[in-house]
Parts: sequence; structure tokens; C-alpha cells
Amino acid sequence: MNIPTSSMVTETPGALIASHSHIRGLGVDLDTLTPRFSSQGLVGQERARKAAALIIKMVEERKIAGRAILIAGPPSTGKTAIAMGMAQTLGSEVPFVTMSGSEIYSKEISKTEALTQAFRKGVAVRVSEETEFIEGEVVEIQLDKSVTQANRQGRIIMKTNDMESAFNLGPKLIDSLEKEHVIAGDIISVNMSSNRIVKLGRSYARSRDYDAMGKDTKFVTCPDGELRKRKEETHVVSLHEIDVINSRPQGYMGLFSGDTGEIPSETRDQINVKVDEWKEEGKAELLPGVLFIDEVHMLDVEAFSFMNKWTETELSPIIIMASNRGNATVRGTPSKAPHGMPLDFLDRCVIISTHPYNAHELQEILKIRAAEEEVELNEGAIALLTRVAEERGLRYGSQLIATSYEVAKKRKGGEGKVEERDVERAYGLFLDPKRSVELVAELQGERMELS
Ligand code: ATP
Repeated sequence: MNIPTSSMVTETPGALIASHSHIRGLGVDLDTLTPRFSSQGLVGQERARKAAALIIKMVEERKIAGRAILIAGPPSTGKTAIAMGMAQTLGSEVPFVTMSGSEIYSKEISKTEALTQAFRKGVAVRVSEETEFIEGEVVEIQLDKSVTQANRQGRIIMKTNDMESAFNLGPKLIDSLEKEHVIAGDIISVNMSSNRIVKLGRSYARSRDYDAMGKDTKFVTCPDGELRKRKEETHVVSLHEIDVINSRPQGYMGLFSGDTGEIPSETRDQINVKVDEWKEEGKAELLPGVLFIDEVHMLDVEAFSFMNKWTETELSPIIIMASNRGNATVRGTPSKAPHGMPLDFLDRCVIISTHPYNAHELQEILKIRAAEEEVELNEGAIALLTRVAEERGLRYGSQLIATSYEVAKKRKGGEGKVEERDVERAYGLFLDPKRSVELVAELQGERMELS
């Protein structure tokens, strides 16, 4: 079975979404679970942030598998922002996968396959492998002149720890030597398991070009290691990445193209068995991460029952969902239910709620966004933006920062610092959804009167 190495991995857990780029964590002291008013880019919503931090602790202590968390609250109250804060807190090894409920219907694969892939992206495996290395200074390289590229052979003489030793090179090691431009005098590390050579530096003894290379050049002395060293290498990869590599003819390239298609269930079963074996042998550890599903009310009843089964398995990530709906129709049924979710699924959820912001909190968030976008606002501009955010929504208020800045740059005498009049102009140029709807309704009314 193939396991991808970290360098093949395309998805960075918790990859940032631009409008949340100011968020660096939950801003909660994890020992005492005390949220700070404004910290790590997050402002207010203290109860929700405290609850989110508690979940992080449970994830870290592996006490929460099989549970789902719902963050419910009105639009623009930071549900996604809090989920991003959780991702940042969990760190880069633990996967954080985000998707929107509607996404599973827009793929070329079935909705259950789309969900399965999302679930398996949310669980990582830390695989440890013992590898053999030889480190030392290259004394001489002797390459045989051979006819074909494939059967090239040679020998390398290396000095390791005052001993000189020679070993044979196969085509892969020769390729690697050439790629690294290794010559006599270089300090190299030869990975005997992966057949790769890495150039570490140049020995003092051979570095006659020292002066020419400049004083900042660092040289490595010959490492005083043993002839063969055993090192433990770890790779952290998601179950989905292992699936793709073992199911596609083009192997890990499928990860880059995103062309994964439907993965046969037999492949997944074999992988699960293998991962279990690795766990038993102490070679691998499972790291359940987080799958964040925004607009969860967009999922239908079949998707929910599929998720219900998944969350009961050992291979489930923590499911965090967000919804800004109150009572809504459960898609695929005629009935309504809280947050548009079937009651049996909702019963397994821990619910965290978010609340509308007050003016002080809105102002602080807008200031953080402005600093993130490197826009300077004067007092009048920030006061007006806060009022706009109160009346027209935080998202619209945030968007006005960039547009007001463009207006300020164009204004005669403006030095790029945004003033109240710039915000006013931008407000006139770009409508918020409410005004836009009102305008369309008004125009339709006029047309009806004319006809
Ligand atoms: P929706 O229900 O419409 O999806 P939401 O509750 O998920 O909304 P977000 O997308 O998290 O809202 O918030 C809107 C914007 O405001 C984002 O740029 C977000 O980063 C920012 N924001 C929201 N709450 C906070 C907060 N407490 N601290 C800092 N930034 C915030």
C-alpha cells in the first residue's frame, strides 16, 4: 500500500478564507478557559468562544468522537469565524476541512461519495517509519559508463566519522546525486529507504572557495554520526489522501488535479484494515480532525442519515456545522424542524449559539479588518462604518473598508487615509442587499404603473 509523504499533500488543514484572514486563534486562555474580549483577531461572543475552546480541549483529549457540534445564530455573527479560530488553535497537524452544505450537490460524484471524501479528509494518520541514513563527506564518486539510463551503476566513497567506506549506487541514487549537484567534498545524507540523497553542505577541509563564496556562507562540518543511523520519519496524511493514491492510476497526481472520481469501497475497506494493523503495530496513530459544514440546512434528509451513521464510527472527524436558519424545512421532506435538521440528528448535537454584536464590538471588528487590509481610517470614518454595520450588517460594513479606501486614494488631496466622506461615497456607489432589493421592487412598481 502506498502512503503519500507530506510533500505530496495538497490541502493545508485550515487553509484561510480571505475574509477571515485576521483570525489567528480563539483568543481564549486554554488552561482556564477564559476568553479575552479581543484577542487573536476574535472579538466578543465570549460564551461561544469559551464553548469552542472547551471542545478543542475535548478533541485534544480524544473525548468527543462521534459527536457533532452546531453553531447556530443570525447571519454575520461569527459562526465561521469561530470555526476558523478553532482550526488555528488545533494547529497544522490536525486536519480542518471546510465545506458548504450545497457543495455536495455540485460535484460530478454522488452526494454520499462527496460526504465520504469530506469525512476522510477530516481524519489524519500519523505514520512513523524507521529509515536508514548514511551521513558523511563525499571523497570520490565513480560512475560506470553504461548504455542505458535505467541500468546506470556506480560507487561512492564516503568518509563518515573518520572511516572511509564505499557503497554501490543504483540509478535512483545516481539521479539524486546529479539533481543535488553532489561533488567530492560535499557533506551528504543518503536515505537508504527512499534512495534519496540530500546535500547538507560542504566540508571545511575541501572548501577552498570559502573567500569567493562570502562570509555569510555557512559550512557544515562532517557530522560525527555513525556509519548507519536509524531515524524515525513521520508523515501526517489524511485517509482521503491514502485513498486517492491507492485508487487512481496516476497515483498522487490525482490529489493535485482534484480529479479523484468515486473511490471504490473495497479500496477504502483495505485501507481501513491496513491502518488498523499499523495502529496495532504502533506504527500509526489516528488524528481525528474537524469537518466544518457551513449552511448545513442545505443538506437533505439522506445526507443527514448518512452522516448519522458516519459519526458513530471510529474514523469520524468532529463535525462542526453552522446554520443561520430558525425553523426551516428539512430538504427532502415536507416537514419543518429547528435549523432545517432532522430531529434524530439534532439530538446528537451540542449547540453553541452566537448573538448579534453591539456597536462597541462591531467597531473593534472593523478596526481589526482595516488593520488586516492595511487601511487607515480616521475617527469619523470608523464611526460611520460602525453605524453602517449596525444598520446594514457587518459583512457589508467590512466590504466598505476596501471600497472607501479606493475612493480616498482618488480624492484630490487625499493621502489614502479614509475619511467620513469617503465612506459616504462608497456607501452611495455600492448597495447592501436590503437597499438593492428595495430598489428593484421600486423599479418594478414603477414599470407596473406605466403598463
Ligand atoms: P453567515 O450565517 O452569514 O454564514 P457567519 O455567522 O458565519 O455568517 P462570519 O462569516 O463568521 O459570520 O462573519 C462575517 C465577517 O465578520 C467575517 O469576515 C468574520 O471574520 C468577521 N467576524 C465575525 N465575527 C467576528 C468576531 N467575533 N471577531 C472578529 N471577526 C469577526
